[in-house]
Amino acid sequence: MISKMYKDMLNARSVIREFAEYAGKRGAEIGYENVFDFSLGNPSVPAPKEFTEAMIRLLQNEPASKLHGYSPTLGNPQFKKAVAESLNKRFGMEYKAEHIFPTSGAAGALAHAARCVSGEGDEIITFAPFFPEYIPYINHMGSKLLVVPANTEDFQINFEKFEEVLSEKTSAILINTPNNPSGISYSAETLSRLASILKAKQEEYGHEIFILSDEPYREIVFDGKEAPYVSKFYDNTLSCYSFSKSLSLPGERIGYVAVNPTCKDAALMSLLCGQVSRGTGHNCPASLIQMAVAEVIDMTSDMAVYEKNMNLIYDKLVELGFTVVRPGGTFYIFPKALEEDASAFCKKALKYDLILVPGDSFGCPGFFRMAYCIDTEKVERALVALDKFVKTEYR
Ligand code: PLP
Repeated sequence: MISKMYKDMLNARSVIREFAEYAGKRGAEIGYENVFDFSLGNPSVPAPKEFTEAMIRLLQNEPASKLHGYSPTLGNPQFKKAVAESLNKRFGMEYKAEHIFPTSGAAGALAHAARCVSGEGDEIITFAPFFPEYIPYINHMGSKLLVVPANTEDFQINFEKFEEVLSEKTSAILINTPNNPSGISYSAETLSRLASILKAKQEEYGHEIFILSDEPYREIVFDGKEAPYVSKFYDNTLSCYSFSKSLSLPGERIGYVAVNPTCKDAALMSLLCGQVSRGTGHNCPASLIQMAVAEVIDMTSDMAVYEKNMNLIYDKLVELGFTVVRPGGTFYIFPKALEEDASAFCKKALKYDLILVPGDSFGCPGFFRMAYCIDTEKVERALVALDKFVKTEYR
């Protein structure tokens, strides 16, 4: 008998994927260069050449047993050490190699970290707007995902609503900063307030409440700034990172969980991750990719194009009268649609070959997301189409 749960999921397909598929089909008709596809967050810049060189060097010089052999269950020691040292240097932390658990991207990191601290019947709270894949990530492990409505003023946390949702059943808070889809980073003030609420609630409930900090966009921050490092604010934090965006390696499936050394049961956490791997049939990322990333740990792709695109799009949106919060990072922007129904708005945009994604699936109806990880030349042409769309349909 096939699984009812997975069969039901076929009927609840990702809206983002549907728009992306439409963009592909339309591209086959008119040429993909003429489709202004803002649907997917696939990095548009190449991995740094140092990464490619490291791969070649390793392939040419290391024995096959090391390159292609099983990774140790808890990860390649070189990779773990490199990540720990890099985080310590950048954020003044005190990670040791044993606090780092390599995973298949941020998705794998979240799957492991969440299972370490939450189980059947527990509740995990997240904040809208949020990455829609959190729903299957969390609900499928038997925990329940609760969503706090967005604070659409500035996309910081809606604390009043948050305190209404917190309860004894809360095992963890899942946050994503810099955020997909809003492009906003939580400020130090927001993180301090979140930490102090959680500390008080831990006391009151007599159990830990962990922060699962989803950070694939940590390196994509604009205006020469750095996003506050969540784990600095709260001991019981498991940071879930990915090199998918910072090194443009989404297909390589490499990321990690970094366990705050001062969190409860810190010494156990990576060992638990190893057991989660066993329980879910996961294995560490490929040995080769762990070794290669360890060699370029402090590098990123050249991501200047994302900031350039953001400024062009933001200025145009403001000129056209959109309500929009200026992103502080990522490659997403999340303006308010020009009519209440963002799906209707995005459908109308298709007539102009603009592929925009409605905010409903991010838990924020009335808004839409543009993923601007595309060439600037295409952004410039897309803005001409956007101008025409808005002036024809809404004036
Ligand atoms: N979390 C967020 C907010 C994302 O945007 C993504 C991917 O786009 C992921 C997690 C998953 O990242 P990865 O592909 O590295 O598993």
